[in-house]
Amino acid sequence: MKTYFVTGGAGFIGSNFVLNLLNAEKVKIINYDKLTYAGNLETLAPVSDNPNHIFVQGDICDRESIRALLDEHQPDCIVNFAAESHVDRSIDDPGEFIQTNIVGTYELLQAARAYWKELQGAAHEAFRFLHVSTDEVYGSLGDTGFFTESTAYAPNSPYAASKAASDHLVRAFHKTYGLPLLTTNCSNNYGPYQFPEKLLPLMIANALSGKPLPIYGDGQQVRDWLYVQDHCEAILTVLQKGRTGEIYNIGGNNEKANLDVVHSLCSLLDEMVPNSPHLPHKSLITFVEDRPGHDRRYAIDASKIRDELGWTPNETFSTGLRKTVAWYLENSEWVEQVISGAYRGQRLGLSTEKRKLSA
Ligand code: NAD
Repeated sequence: MKTYFVTGGAGFIGSNFVLNLLNAEKVKIINYDKLTYAGNLETLAPVSDNPNHIFVQGDICDRESIRALLDEHQPDCIVNFAAESHVDRSIDDPGEFIQTNIVGTYELLQAARAYWKELQGAAHEAFRFLHVSTDEVYGSLGDTGFFTESTAYAPNSPYAASKAASDHLVRAFHKTYGLPLLTTNCSNNYGPYQFPEKLLPLMIANALSGKPLPIYGDGQQVRDWLYVQDHCEAILTVLQKGRTGEIYNIGGNNEKANLDVVHSLCSLLDEMVPNSPHLPHKSLITFVEDRPGHDRRYAIDASKIRDELGWTPNETFSTGLRKTVAWYLENSEWVEQVISGAYRGQRLGLSTEKRKLSA
């Protein structure tokens, strides 16, 4: 039975990965997560009694604890999802992003290197470490063109810069120490279990309660959208078939302007919640001050993973969006539980100084 050491497996993408894998295959998963505001054990309730799922609360900056867990459980691979992931939060307070995304990735790499060095024979040969990253490391595109794996890094937000730094560490640990690393750079994910500070779940929650739907700037920022299950399958494909030391871009071939995304969502909510007191939901759309340094357009060329490894996404934006809305409608309790802490849907990312000035 294959053993996975997964970091950040109580967050959005990590939990989808863990739940899918435990459902589909006989595997053992060590799920290592700090449980920040973005990590929730409620999400992992379906596998809380599964003896093949071992949850450990811990920080990826804690090299010694990770090393002890690796020695104890002897995983075949590590998948690193753990990160601070919200651009707006990185604008207000970049410190945690530097700590977790850069220092944490470094400590995890060091623990993995020490563990891998001591593995013998086939286990040493087969070991893999996959680092999950983002297309935001490449910066912003004009009206045309796509990010490829050889596009120069040009991160614009503290979040993107911290992920770019972590990617560089991963590259260096492969080149310098031969650690069998893989990096994936993926576009915007959406789907079940996404914390309701990100565009789609925030808009769903606000629309259902008749609150304004805040569109940053003119709403013409273009993103590529990928359904989270497709991302999880792409990660498994890269783990199984990817060439170590390589980067694989992952995208959904679904470029959309933010305003169009919200319009599609509103039409779907009108159809799926016909008795809503807030019809038509698009009347809740409100334009607000843009995010500082907001990247205009991201678009992914995912032909490498398609041609080399045979992965393509299963969902279109319209099928994935319908599944996502259906999930949020059926899981309002989950939303209530995860936003019961400090975050209540308020605007983030205008930078602390600015807020103080306008206070
Ligand atoms: P998320 O914020 O939903 O989850 C992050 C998880 O990491 C949480 O469970 C949190 O508790 C945990 N964590 C944070 N700091 C930690 C630490 N120091 N030690 C251990 N655990 C810690 O993020 P997500 O959206 O699931 O993203 C997962 C990964 O995928 C990230 O690396 C992110 O950069 C990358 N990514 C995300 C997207 C997207 O659209 N969400 C797109 C491309 C890449």
